[in-house]
Amino acid sequence: MTVLERLLFDYSREGRTAYSLPGLDVPELPVENLLPGARLRSDNTLPELSEIDIVRHYHRLSILNHHVDKGFYPLGSCTMKYNPKVNEDLCRLPGLLALHPLQPAETIQGALRLMYELAEYLKEISGLDAVSLQPAAGAHGELTGVMMIRKYFEKKGENRTRVLVPDSAHGTNPATVTLSGFQPVPLASNEKGQIDPAALEKALDDSFACFMITNPNTLGIFEKDIRAISEIAHRKGVLLYMDGANLNAYMGYVRPGDIGFDCIHFNLHKTFSTPHGGGGPGSGPVGVKKLLEPFLPVPIVTKWSSGQVAECRPPDSLDHSTTGPLDHYSLDYNRPDSIGKVLAFFGNFSVMVRAYVYIRMLGAQGLKDVSECAVLNANYAKAALAGTYGLKYTDHCMHEVVLDGTPFKEYGVRTLDIAKRLLDNGVHAPTVYFPLIVPEALMIEPTETESREALDDFIAIMKRIAQEAKENPQLLHDAPLRTPVRRLDEAKASRELDVAYRNTKTQE
Ligand SMILES: *Cc1c(COP(=O)(O)O)cnc(C)c1O
Repeated sequence: MTVLERLLFDYSREGRTAYSLPGLDVPELPVENLLPGARLRSDNTLPELSEIDIVRHYHRLSILNHHVDKGFYPLGSCTMKYNPKVNEDLCRLPGLLALHPLQPAETIQGALRLMYELAEYLKEISGLDAVSLQPAAGAHGELTGVMMIRKYFEKKGENRTRVLVPDSAHGTNPATVTLSGFQPVPLASNEKGQIDPAALEKALDDSFACFMITNPNTLGIFEKDIRAISEIAHRKGVLLYMDGANLNAYMGYVRPGDIGFDCIHFNLHKTFSTPHGGGGPGSGPVGVKKLLEPFLPVPIVTKWSSGQVAECRPPDSLDHSTTGPLDHYSLDYNRPDSIGKVLAFFGNFSVMVRAYVYIRMLGAQGLKDVSECAVLNANYAKAALAGTYGLKYTDHCMHEVVLDGTPFKEYGVRTLDIAKRLLDNGVHAPTVYFPLIVPEALMIEPTETESREALDDFIAIMKRIAQEAKENPQLLHDAPLRTPVRRLDEAKASRELDVAYRNTKTQE
């Protein structure tokens, strides 16, 4: 086994430190006296390192990995846009960073205001009536949404057991349906990669609770018949859920609430710029129409003005008499129909701060510009590469385009080989073999933060690889040649999960 970078434990040397403090000028106390009741574990062996050991370790790791600060990252459906560094500064403001989730509400008014206002912005952007910021990621938002829909029908006394999911939906959608205790039923999309209202009319009956759509769908195509779709679903008493992870395609242009959706989730870490991938923190707020509002997770941040009688004032709320005419924020737990909690405390607060900063910084016009440029960039790549690569669905795309590697099969080259060769060129691979309805799918999402020059470079690389596929297929089978590790077993890590720490030095 080649070890590219050892663990910090392996660099540890007894007594080495990354800090220096002046000597004690007061009598030393036993630890128990310093921290009454606290348990400081001395048996917890942590690496002992100098500052330079640590800096070099993380710097080397950052070079081994591909990331959006290093190069183009057109990983379809993941919206790997550049994340402005100002977000990072502001979410680390000491007043925000040092908050404790158990602090009384009167001591965290600013944080509550930020959450309240972020929810208001998301309501405005989505055209929905209420928002919960609690879910920790997109898939978690889906689960929260579908659980609310479940409770809604339970309350109505309707026994609906199924959820219809088009074959162009994101994979998390049917997974969510199953996890929430519903049965997912697939709906085939038509030759344009869209939902056919006539097919929907036939498929839906009153055994369905919900029709769950990704819009634009995973082909990057907007559902043009969405109004008809909404009419059919609602006529049959079926609620309409939108996977809103692709909101980058039309912020400020289309509001899901206006086109019939009852419930959507947002991916703050995608659309509203938090570094993600590699399991970093996410946030997947859900937005709902009035009919689902009672079921939102607790707590909800509420705002009330001085003199106004808060309906469900928590015990730690501010005393009106002393605070003047300011707005106050509190946490409303008194919601009898709530599905309960879906995460500890309030959600991933620091991701909310980043999203808040991003929205405030761009403003309404800025968000529209984001979507416009995202769509323009995807269509630019589509137009430039359509002659070289296959294109099964030719309609105007939104923020991403799905190309097809089928034309290279006759040379023995598959999409996976093309993706691996891209790595040799310093580009992250697109999403491959997804959506399933394009056999050799290459799903490309450039995002709005890439320049014309970056796109032209990418297009040139894609064309060169297409040429290589025809002239030297073996090169593509061998790729990647220039990365720190060569071709990996795609499934081994998840099939033989092994995350235990071992001293890599003794293993060579
Ligand atoms: C990313 C994504 C999800 C899942 O979101 P996570 O935050 O990764 O859980 C769901 N649907 C679509 C369309 C996505 O792109």
